[in-house]
Amino acid sequence: MTQVYNFSSGPAMLPADVLRRAQHELCDWQGLGTSVMEISHRGKEFIQVAEEAEKDFRDLLQIPSNYKVLFCHGGGRGQFAGVPLNLLGDKTTADYVDGGYWASSAVKEAHKYCTPNVIDAKVTVDGLRAIKPMSEWQVSEDSAYLHYCPNETIDGIATHETPDFGDKVVVADYSSSILSHPLDISRFGVIYAGAQKNIGPAGLTLVIVREDLLGKAHKACPSILDYTVLNDNDSMFNTPPTFAWYLSGLVFKWLKEQGGVEAMDKTNRAKAELLYGVIDKSDFYRNDVAAANRSRMNVPFQLADSALDKLFLEESFAAGLHALKGHRVVGGMRASIYNAMPLEGVKALTDFMVDFERRHG
Ligand code: PMP
Repeated sequence: MTQVYNFSSGPAMLPADVLRRAQHELCDWQGLGTSVMEISHRGKEFIQVAEEAEKDFRDLLQIPSNYKVLFCHGGGRGQFAGVPLNLLGDKTTADYVDGGYWASSAVKEAHKYCTPNVIDAKVTVDGLRAIKPMSEWQVSEDSAYLHYCPNETIDGIATHETPDFGDKVVVADYSSSILSHPLDISRFGVIYAGAQKNIGPAGLTLVIVREDLLGKAHKACPSILDYTVLNDNDSMFNTPPTFAWYLSGLVFKWLKEQGGVEAMDKTNRAKAELLYGVIDKSDFYRNDVAAANRSRMNVPFQLADSALDKLFLEESFAAGLHALKGHRVVGGMRASIYNAMPLEGVKALTDFMVDFERRHG
């Protein structure tokens, strides 16, 4: 069978070692004669899985003890509602930095609960797409928090700065870049991330929340989105997505074996450099994001002749390079190169791109 490298933006590639282990123990987990999917989330066996996963996640990101980790349902979009419902308190506005598709989707949802102060951070510099530096984000005084998305999965644009906004509660949608590099958690009030890119399978959402922000949920906040209720019930107020939780736990162990987020950061930079390098060297391929804002997770690129898009996708698929079609709102191609994508996968892609250009350029 051809070696397949899956460049899907999410649900995305998982580490092969993790899948093999899950396969090996699927039908008879820990000698119980059943799978981990079929046991009670309240039994001691699953509680151990749940606690270990949380511990490993905390270790990986060095999460300080005054932060709670919640294992939730609802995905990133669930948190677009969960954040205002939990954090507005008696305030009626929040700052929302608009840097791309997902940040602007968060704004749309926030409008149901408050009047967001939208900070348009999208700029064009020398014909390239960029995000205004954080120092130019005009934060309002009366806002309950500042929300931004450090890595825009569709636009392939990222804010690599570490936030420093004094007492303002900073909320970040890390759905597509969590665990890809070290983070100073203490700069954030809330970080959330859907699992299906850098954590595990779809169905699980992780929320990291500073404990002093608990206890402020709107009275109409659904209990399953209420951080305080989730925290008081160890993320088991309702039945959690147990299989996704277990598999994410295996990914955390794999990450630790690889050397943690520092090692991931190094490999992720090398992967991105290799891919952008090939794009920049040719007139056949193009990426229009300013160097300082290029995503290391999602690399959109266009072929100079879009008439070749279909052939590129057919040939790349046949070569075992899957899911390279760009998002429908952007077109062209997109290679998502999360933690589970090895450097060899990106090398295979760039070799293919060079060869495709030689044949069709
Ligand atoms: N935020 C970001 C940055 C995303 O990439 C996505 C999904 N691609 C979402 C939010 C929405 O996540 P979900 O589909 O889990 O609701």
